[in-house]
Amino acid sequence: MKFKFLLFLPILSCNAQVSNSNNSATLDSMALQIENYYTQNKGNNLPSKSIGTPGKGQLINGKLIPFKGSNYEYFDVNSYLSGRAFLHQKVKETLLNTYKKLDSIYPQRQFKIMECANKNGGALFPHKTHQNGLSVDFMMPLIQENKPYYKLDTIGTTHYFITLNSKGQYNRDTSIAIDFNLVAKQILILGEKARLKGLKISKVIINTGFKDELFATVFGNQLRLSKIYIVKSLDNYTNYFHDDHFHIDFEIL
Ligand SMILES: [Zn+2]
Repeated sequence: MKFKFLLFLPILSCNAQVSNSNNSATLDSMALQIENYYTQNKGNNLPSKSIGTPGKGQLINGKLIPFKGSNYEYFDVNSYLSGRAFLHQKVKETLLNTYKKLDSIYPQRQFKIMECANKNGGALFPHKTHQNGLSVDFMMPLIQENKPYYKLDTIGTTHYFITLNSKGQYNRDTSIAIDFNLVAKQILILGEKARLKGLKISKVIINTGFKDELFATVFGNQLRLSKIYIVKSLDNYTNYFHDDHFHIDFEIL
């Protein structure tokens, strides 16, 4: 089924070679291109406005998330340069403050942001939402033998198509699995930093088959007891695509 989905994604081509390439000249030129793109497109100084809903909306004065920081990186160069990494200013600040806090707790841990929104919002094919700058996809942090595992983090948009089983293990190598405790901690910090910006998490979309695993962890239990809403049921299609990442919709209070 994910393969079928792939056919609908001509715009999102994988650029894994960018991260894995030994060609430093290519990497330098790509880094320069990203830097120039950011400078030219980071957005104006006017406050952002989200119109409508994540499912049908627009974004005014959207801000581009910096491609990377000390402990995070946007997951795909083509997606970034295609203008799909814009957010409401308060969501952008929430993310940056979250990564700052994660850095202080897990100094060696690297994270990936996946797709966000178009500069002016609107449909972000093939996502059903992501329309008004309040939706973000976050890559699941993986572990192998209790150590962070990053090899699947650099496959670009292809990452949306990897498959994990109901225990959150990678189907091609079950020794690689989601770090559910860290997923929960990340969501809790996002909730905390969102509140400081006058936002709240209105919805977390994660494969519902993972909820037992998620809530069985220390931070997962805290998440279960928190007011953060985790979707209770999803159609098969949506469930299937929320195994490699989790999606968050923010709401302005
Ligand atoms: Zn999403």
